[in-house]
Amino acid sequence: MNRPSSAVLLFRVARIAASRARRFGLRSAWNCVRTPFINACWRWMDRFCRPRVECPCCGWRGTAFRWLDIGQWVLPQIECPRCGRHDRHRLMRLVVDEPAVAALFRDARVLHCAPEPEMREWMDRRGARFVVSSDLDPFIYILAPPPKAAADLVSLPFKDGSFDLVVHVHVLEHILDDGAALREIRRVLRPGGVSLMMVPFAPIPATVEFGAPNPELYGHVRDYSANDFPERLKDFEVTAFRADQFLEQALRERYQIRADETVFLCRKPLGS
Ligand SMILES: [Zn+2]
Repeated sequence: MNRPSSAVLLFRVARIAASRARRFGLRSAWNCVRTPFINACWRWMDRFCRPRVECPCCGWRGTAFRWLDIGQWVLPQIECPRCGRHDRHRLMRLVVDEPAVAALFRDARVLHCAPEPEMREWMDRRGARFVVSSDLDPFIYILAPPPKAAADLVSLPFKDGSFDLVVHVHVLEHILDDGAALREIRRVLRPGGVSLMMVPFAPIPATVEFGAPNPELYGHVRDYSANDFPERLKDFEVTAFRADQFLEQALRERYQIRADETVFLCRKPLGS
């Protein structure tokens, strides 16, 4: 397939920017224009500069991870240009490589919510007995390998204690009643079972509820704050792998993972 010419690309960006300006304002339009330009500069620098960052998911090395346009903000150093994984995947990969965490997958019955293909590969490699993929999005559901269920996280079609492990990365911020989802995850875990979870944190002092999906923020229904999110996990025994405590500064810079990015390992207490 022929690559579109620069003129065609510019026309497409201008059309999207005009639409963003109408719907979300000039700041959003400006972010739409500047992000591809910044990323083109990084691509160019990769050809001439010494690598400074590395993706632990695919081994790519380069000058910088690509910036990500998320509407009103542009997040720097997020996306790997080779595998497309983000900083959350990089941290999850490093945590799952920890021997004690990797052992959780051995012969485990796993529920993988909003499944991401690369994570599924890690689970299979670590010896999971079976992995059930679950999502309501028809596109993701169709692509997910079997066994799979088109299930809502607040109402899972599984018996109590069906799973040893439930994995969900950046899912709760899409669910209006995240408390109900956490109760449901706890229900389908066996006593002593574990949920590995991540949510995105905004640099704000307290969580802000939107009340409805925000179309400019991937349909998120809230901005979580790292300060108060752990209170929502009070029914679990929690071990937090926070990037700035889990990784030395030099490694965190090499993998470009934000200080407050955290993998929560939430264990359902025995006898509950
Ligand atoms: Zn990568």
